[in-house]
Amino acid sequence: MPHKDSRVKLAIIGGGRGGKALVELLFTDPTVKIVGIADLNPKAPAMLLAKRLKIPHATDYRKILKNNNANLVMDVTGRPSIEKDIARVAPRAEIIGGHSARFMWEMIGARIKSREEIQRLLIEYQSLYDLGLKLTASENPEKLYLTIVDYATNLTNTPAGSLTIFDEKRGEMSIAAVKGVSKQFSSKTRWKVRQGGLTSHILNQDEPLAVQDIKRYPKFDNPIMLREGIRSLIASPLKTEGRIVGILYVDDFKPRQYTTREVSLLSLLSTFAAMAIEKTKLLESTRLLAITDELTGLHNHRHFRQQLAIEISRAERYHRSLSLMMIDIDYFKHYNDTNGHLKGNEVLKEMGRLLKEMSREVDIVARYGGEEFSIVMPETNRRKARAISERLRKRIESHKFENARKQPDKRLTISIGLASYPENAGTAFEVIEQADKALYEAKHTGRNTVCVSHRKWKSAGTVHPRLSR
Ligand code: GH3
Ligand code: MG
Ligand code: MG
Repeated sequence: MPHKDSRVKLAIIGGGRGGKALVELLFTDPTVKIVGIADLNPKAPAMLLAKRLKIPHATDYRKILKNNNANLVMDVTGRPSIEKDIARVAPRAEIIGGHSARFMWEMIGARIKSREEIQRLLIEYQSLYDLGLKLTASENPEKLYLTIVDYATNLTNTPAGSLTIFDEKRGEMSIAAVKGVSKQFSSKTRWKVRQGGLTSHILNQDEPLAVQDIKRYPKFDNPIMLREGIRSLIASPLKTEGRIVGILYVDDFKPRQYTTREVSLLSLLSTFAAMAIEKTKLLESTRLLAITDELTGLHNHRHFRQQLAIEISRAERYHRSLSLMMIDIDYFKHYNDTNGHLKGNEVLKEMGRLLKEMSREVDIVARYGGEEFSIVMPETNRRKARAISERLRKRIESHKFENARKQPDKRLTISIGLASYPENAGTAFEVIEQADKALYEAKHTGRNTVCVSHRKWKSAGTVHPRLSR
C-alpha cells in the first residue's frame, strides 16, 4: 500500500450539467479523487449527486478549496471573476477554467454520450434478438401480431401503434392488432386498397415513411386517425420476397421528428415481422387445408366428426341442446348420368354454398361424403331444428340448379334426416346413427322431405329452457 495518496485531488467549482458530467465520469476513475464540489445553488445537479456519493460539497467554493487541499481545480462556472479569486484562495493548485474547462467538459460529455449510445444500442439489439426468438416461437397469429406492435412501439418509444394485414385474394387490408388507441379506431376492420390511396402509396415503397405532422401531409386525410388525435407516425411496409404482407404503424399524439435510428429500427423489425407473419399464415393455411373439403370448401368428414364430439360434450356439460341434420341429394345418380360427372360437381359446389348461406356462423356445415352433407346446430332443440330443416328443404327445391328440369321430379331436391341431443341420443355416435335412420325414412317416404328421429333418450326438460334455440 502506498504511503502517500498519489491521486489527483480535484475540486469542481460549478454544479451545473458540466460539473455533473465531470463527477459522473471521474468518480470511478482510479487516478482522480474528487475532494469537493461547490455551487451557489445547493440543488444544482452536481450538488445533489455529490450528496448521494458522499463527496464534500458547499455553497461557498472557498470552503471547499481551503479545507480539502485540492491540487487541481476545474472551474466550470464560466465566470471570469471567480477564476481570479480561486487563484488567490488556492495558490498551489492548478486551475483549469474558462475555455479549457468548457472544452474539457464538452469532450467528457461527448464520451458519456457515446457510452450512453453504446448502452442504448445494446438494449436495442437485445430487444431485437428477443423479438426474433418470440417471433419464431409464435404459433398463434393473434399473439404474434400483438408482439410485433408491442416491440415496434417500445423500440421507437411511441405511445400507440397498429398492424394491418393484406389479404391478397380480396385486395383488402384488415387491422390485426392495435395498441394505445380507442375501440373505435379498430372498429372498421377491413377496407379495399385504393389505387393512388395512402395505403397503396406506403406499400409501393420499400422503406418506412415517417410523417412529422399529419396535418401538414395532405395525403393523410384519414378521418379515423385524425379523430384519434394521432399527429405523427412511421408507416413501414411489410414485405417478404416481393410479396406484400401488411403495414406496421407506430403513432404519436403530438408532432414529432422521428430520428433516422428510429426509422431504421422499425425497418429492421419489419423484415423480421414480415417473415414471421408469412410463416404463421402458411401454417394456418395448411391447417385449414387439412379440415376443408376440396370441392365444396365446406368442412370435411374428419373435422365434422371432431367438432360433433366437441359440441356434444359441451352440450352435456352446460345442459344445452344440439341437433344434427343429415342431407342427401335426391336422384343424384340420375343427375350425373344425364349431365355428366363434372356438371354434378358444379351442383355439389352450389349446394355447399347454399347450405353455408342458410346456416349460422356457429353451425358446422360439412360434406359428409359423396353427395351427402351434414350440419351440426349447437343450441338448437328438435322443434327448432325441424323448422330450420323445412326452410332449407324449400329453399333447395325452389333453387334453379342447371338442368334441374331433367330430374325425375322436374327439380333438384334433398332429403333430410334429423336427430337431436338429448331428445333422441346421448352420444355423437348415436346422434349420427339416429339422423341416418331418419334420412333413410325420408328417402322411403317419397324424398324431398324432412324426417325426425323417433327414438326417445332424455326429455328436453333436462335442457335449460331459455338457452335452447
Ligand atoms: P337417392 O339418394 O335419391 O336415393 O338417389 P341417388 O341417385 O342420389 O342415390 P345415391 O345417394 O346412392 O347416389 C349417390 C350418387 O352420387 C352416386 C355418385 O355417382 C354420386 N356422387 C357421389 N360423389 C360424387 C361426386 O363427388 N361428384 C359427383 N358428380 N357425383 C358424386
Ligand atoms: Mg347418397
Ligand atoms: Mg342421393
